[in-house]
Amino acid sequence: MSGHLAIIGLGPGPADQITPQAAAALARADWLLGYGPYLDRLHLAPHQRIIPTDNREEAARAAHALRLVAEEGRQVAMVTGGDPGVFAMAAAVLEQMEQGPPAWRMVDLQIIPGITAMLAVAARVGAPLGHDFCAISLSDNLKPWSVIENRLRAAATGGFVMAFYNPRSKARPHQLGQALALLRDLLPGTVPVIFGRAIGRPDENVIFTTLAAADPEQVDMSTCVLIGTAETRVLERPGLEPLVYTPRSIAGPV
Ligand code: SAH
Repeated sequence: MSGHLAIIGLGPGPADQITPQAAAALARADWLLGYGPYLDRLHLAPHQRIIPTDNREEAARAAHALRLVAEEGRQVAMVTGGDPGVFAMAAAVLEQMEQGPPAWRMVDLQIIPGITAMLAVAARVGAPLGHDFCAISLSDNLKPWSVIENRLRAAATGGFVMAFYNPRSKARPHQLGQALALLRDLLPGTVPVIFGRAIGRPDENVIFTTLAAADPEQVDMSTCVLIGTAETRVLERPGLEPLVYTPRSIAGPV
């Protein structure tokens, strides 16, 4: 049998947010590669073999998957959280297909979308992404910090709602604070900010704050941060959590 590679998004956490298409692709695989905690979420059949991988060695993991498919004819699933094309493995695999042996370009490949973190956080709190928005990874492992700062400035002056992925880690404790300081010079302090942590998982936590008050200490690597715009509204509801939304129309130039 010829090999097949499925790059599968598992969504933010809950089993009922794994699409039927992703579930079918998981069932078809004999070999599953992915970061250990993602693989732990799955109920696997006895014949399915798992290869837990380090979350950092993306290029090596992608090449490993392509070798299994192209050279050994395996049915391989590469598993990612959220969507595989959002700060995840799909681009890493395509990069290896471009750079590797010609046979790698020809592998039978399927990329299966999943619910990405910013959509899960947004749905949890209302509709903060209701108008134009962008997603920025705050990690400078794969790009210089100066590029991140330029993109933050462009997004703020362009009037985009922002979703920050990889906002803060033990190795990078100061960058979210620096990003917020930069934005405070460009946007009103009243802009709504949401820290959505581990959405859909048992340790989920949501914090509603503002650009002026946002405290980076409340954020870790399991958090997706949403920064509103001057138009983003907070609908207060006595006794209930607020709802946050960005209106579908805006009045004039930002
Ligand atoms: N491919 C993933 C993103 C990988 S980058 C996706 O589409 O969601 C990892 C970052 O995603 C984390 O640092 C965090 O910012 C965000 N993230 C992933 N799962 C999350 C969840 N359940 N709740 C909040 N943020 C999450």
